[in-house]
Amino acid sequence: MIKFTADASLRPFNTFGLDAKADLLVEYTSEDDLSQIFHDARVAGKPFLHVGQGSNLLFTGDYHGVVLHSGIRGIRPTSQGEDVVLLECGAGESWDGICAWCVDHGFYGVENLSGIPGEVGAAAVQNIGAYGVEFKDVAVAISVYDVKADKHVIVSVEECQYGYRTSLFKQPDYKQRFIVTGALLGMARKAPFMLDYGNIKAALLERGFTLLQGADRKRGDRSMRGKPITLHAMRDAILSLRDSKLPDPKVLGNAGSFFKNPVIERSRYEELLAAHPDMPKYDVDETHVKVPAGWLIEHAGCRNRSVGDACVYPQQCLVIVNRGHASADEIVQLSRLIVETVNERYAIRLEPEVNFI
Ligand SMILES: Cc1cc2nc3c(=O)[nH]c(=O)nc-3n(C[C@H](O)[C@H](O)[C@H](O)COP(=O)(O)OP(=O)(O)OC[C@H]3O[C@@H](n4cnc5c(N)ncnc54)[C@H](O)[C@@H]3O)c2cc1C
Repeated sequence: MIKFTADASLRPFNTFGLDAKADLLVEYTSEDDLSQIFHDARVAGKPFLHVGQGSNLLFTGDYHGVVLHSGIRGIRPTSQGEDVVLLECGAGESWDGICAWCVDHGFYGVENLSGIPGEVGAAAVQNIGAYGVEFKDVAVAISVYDVKADKHVIVSVEECQYGYRTSLFKQPDYKQRFIVTGALLGMARKAPFMLDYGNIKAALLERGFTLLQGADRKRGDRSMRGKPITLHAMRDAILSLRDSKLPDPKVLGNAGSFFKNPVIERSRYEELLAAHPDMPKYDVDETHVKVPAGWLIEHAGCRNRSVGDACVYPQQCLVIVNRGHASADEIVQLSRLIVETVNERYAIRLEPEVNFI
């Protein structure tokens, strides 16, 4: 099914709730629709933007081109090995729906990515990540429609050039060329769980689970014995951690983390630490560390900053929210103010994670 809508509102396709419009919106439900769409005179040769739920988009104005949205659905196990199950997922499936499905079916690997808004197609583009796990950790291959060659192609995970919230699909040469139609995920049949991030351990202990896994659990002394962690327990812990600090876009418009956590040289971090002894970091490699952007924003004094109806979310300063009627311009102005203030204080220039359109 293909549906064309001229002069379409993009409000349902951005979680900031901004009222931008597209010259043409094309919604489709199968891989085969794409060739027909790109041969249609209303689409051929026009600039296009593929959207998911718009949970990482900021429309700074109307989009003068074609906006596409996929309704390709389906979650199918394609091969069931002893240790790994391959799962084919349609690009239009909800990402959290995939996580819930895997947890219900006893497949390990995406439980820490529970609760991230958006669709599978965007997860593959963004290399979404949370609580120590990234999409690339479970990805095996991505199916795409190559607009230029008018054919369907499989891109292996190695070819996707995944990095921190980035991929081949975000590069200028491929943005107007590759449309993600599905993802092949490799899911494990057993733990271990990834517990070393954020407050996962505390959340599990509070619920009466032991932190010991596998053979360690059997060997552990009595005081360390609690209920063994299950997939459902992990998902519940992650969802409640997220709920406690992130605003629900249905209540307060937002696009999650507005900025990326900056990666800086370790030597630079040590200089900063001398002046700011409580500055946190995550190790990236021997020479680089990642500094939480939310901490920088808060400690630069931006916690209560706002421009019109756009304001910093006080419980998690990395998020900019639309209090009601914020314009794109107000959100952009506030983001610039934050970048300048953090730069003045720490000489670190924050980069947006949100895609400006
Ligand atoms: C409350 C909240 C919490 C969040 N938490 C996290 C988090 O923990 N971790 C994290 O990584 N992100 C997080 N995000 C950001 C966001 O959810 C992810 O980036 C998500 O992958 C975006 O999915 P989407 O379907 O909304 O894509 P969109 O925002 O619509 O699009 C994102 C990008 O993908 C491209 N795209 C979408 N579909 C396709 C396709 N089929 N083919 C080609 N390109 C495509 C778009 O052009 C755009 O460049 C959060 C957002 C919110 C609102």
